[in-house]
Formats: sequence, C-alpha cells, structure tokens
Amino acid sequence: MSIPESKPSLLLSLLTMKCPSCRKTHVFVNKSMFPLSQLVVLKDSCEICGQKMKSEVNNGGGINYALTMILFVFNLIWYWPIFGISYKDDSIFYFLGSSLAIVLIAQPYLMRLSRMIYLYLYVGFGASNKPS
Ligand SMILES: [Zn+2]
Repeated sequence: MSIPESKPSLLLSLLTMKCPSCRKTHVFVNKSMFPLSQLVVLKDSCEICGQKMKSEVNNGGGINYALTMILFVFNLIWYWPIFGISYKDDSIFYFLGSSLAIVLIAQPYLMRLSRMIYLYLYVGFGASNKPS
C-alpha cells in the first residue's frame, strides 16, 4: 500500500478480496461478512479500473467444495499430532465433529474466497486496460 504504483501481491489481494485487475478496491458490496444474505454479492464493476465483476456464470461451487476438503485435510494435520486419532475409540468422530465445526465457521470466508479464486482465474492483473 505504501507504493501505489507497484503491483500488489497476488495472494494478498486474493485473500483480502481485492479487485483482480487493479488490486485496489474491495470487490464485494459489503466489506463485512454480514448480513449473510449479501455475503457473496459482488459490485457491478470496480470503481477504480472499471473491471466488470459480475459473470454470467454462477460460479465458485466447485472451488468451494475443493476448499472445504482442503480445510478438512488441514485440520487433520494439526489435530492428529495434538489429540491423536485412533480406530480403537471415538477419536475419529471427535475429529470429524471439530473439523465440521471449523468448516462451518470458515464457510462464509470460503464462499467468498472461492468466488475470488474464480474471478482471479478469469481476470488477470490490468485486464481492464486491455481492449476486449
Ligand atoms: Zn479494479
């Protein structure tokens, strides 16, 4: 943010839900996750570069599923060494329960993130400057 001319980091812009083309503005109508009914409502276009945000295709479902699975695996990585998982007792169910809770809590963010990943796949940096 200190040097406005520099190209902001792709990953950082993605995680902070910035415009895929100029990486300066927030792409969602509400910065906050609430109200949840407007969670994934995108702006029509970017205020700075004019990049269109809305795509005809309703998307993100598949990516969202993948992210959810990744989160499950990620949970396994920290859960296993700390609490241990064994087939001898109910620990696998505790793991599944806690993973499910984490996935549910992270879901609003994951839904936005999957939409962002989709946008970033289709809109490259500076895309709005190129003739279409
Ligand atoms: Zn923009």
